[in-house]
Amino acid sequence: MLLYALNEVAGDETRASLTPDTAKKLAALGLDVVFEPGLGGGADFSDDDYTAAGAKPMPRDEAIPAADIVLHLTPPPAELIRRMKRGTLSLGFLAPFPIHLGPGDPPAETAEKARLDALVEAGLTGISVEMMPRSTLAQKMDAISSQANLAGYVAVTLAASRMNKILPMMMTPSGTISPAKVFIIGVGVAGLQAIATAKRLGARVTAFDTRAEALEQAESLGAKALRIDLGETGATDQGYAKELTPEQIAKQKAGQAKVCAESDIVICTAKLFGRPAPRLVGKDVVSTMRSGAILVDLAAETGGNVEGVVPGEETVTENGVRLIGHRRLECLVARDASAMFANNLANFIDHFWDKETKTLKYDPEDPILKGATLTRDGQFVNKHPAFGKS
Ligand code: NAD
Repeated sequence: MLLYALNEVAGDETRASLTPDTAKKLAALGLDVVFEPGLGGGADFSDDDYTAAGAKPMPRDEAIPAADIVLHLTPPPAELIRRMKRGTLSLGFLAPFPIHLGPGDPPAETAEKARLDALVEAGLTGISVEMMPRSTLAQKMDAISSQANLAGYVAVTLAASRMNKILPMMMTPSGTISPAKVFIIGVGVAGLQAIATAKRLGARVTAFDTRAEALEQAESLGAKALRIDLGETGATDQGYAKELTPEQIAKQKAGQAKVCAESDIVICTAKLFGRPAPRLVGKDVVSTMRSGAILVDLAAETGGNVEGVVPGEETVTENGVRLIGHRRLECLVARDASAMFANNLANFIDHFWDKETKTLKYDPEDPILKGATLTRDGQFVNKHPAFGKS
């Protein structure tokens, strides 16, 4: 079987879906591993590193019609999908939700619907890593978590590098510097890593989440949990937060306003699976923050937690607050992000690999495949309701 990894290094995308390490592992399974030249350029892997690991460079036009498995980060465009063989496995992010709102993106519904329709029409098996079940068994394939973990770390180090203050307390003969105050809104995978990173750097951390267990986890990392009585909240079967009512959001905003105003850094990571992110920090609250304070919005790409944040950009408000809306913070640590992402894909292939026939086994009843398959045999297996029933 021929496995091809697309080179997508462009703009703010620096990661690769295959590393020399995973190329070696996949070749050892019996796959012919080929890659598009320049694949690892954004993560400082050279073409020679890949060839030394047993992979072969091949131009896209030659490889695409021949590949049985195509690895990618971003969803391949419709015209590329249509050039793949029927039955090819397209493995990577497939953007199965109509909520990508970045500047310069074509209107979400049209671009993404065209891509999804192309997957169906071309008869590809589309495995969307966004839809990987959050189960213990699938953890090693969970790219949302592996990337969120790194984004949480980068959110803190980036904020620290932009700030005119240090994070730890310092008591010196020249004076005492009190620790920076960091407020984390949303304590999922990214939020927990942001707490751990800010604590390691010596900051005083407060955290809020609508899920009670997330607040307990925040406390176990040494953060102070902000408790706001919102009435009934909770999580879906997959562990994702349930959407709040407008009344609950208003209560949350009021309950966290004072903490925001007193913080040097606010990091927002609150997301809703497959839905636009909730708007949790308004301009009124940003205007109460001190000049030089930093707000990082990890949800900028899906609508933003913070009013006024521009996806993909850093801006400064009239009162001197820096709003950071970078779309994929993990791309700033491309080497580690590529290693984790490539491992997730290689683990998926290894998990479903039949060593005797040297092919992928596909059992439609397997819970991982049932959850993560977007399209197969010319049909949608799972489909976001916003894309309609047909
Ligand atoms: P996410 O990216 O969807 O959301 C980030 C966080 O935002 C979540 O903790 C969510 O509760 C929170 N949030 C949503 N609305 C909010 C609001 N109004 N105010 C404050 N916070 C809000 O979530 P995620 O990080 O991908 O994961 C969520 C949870 O899924 C994890 O904490 C865990 O319980 C579960 N999970 C399980 C596995 C596994 O079992 N393999 C792997 C990863 C995650």
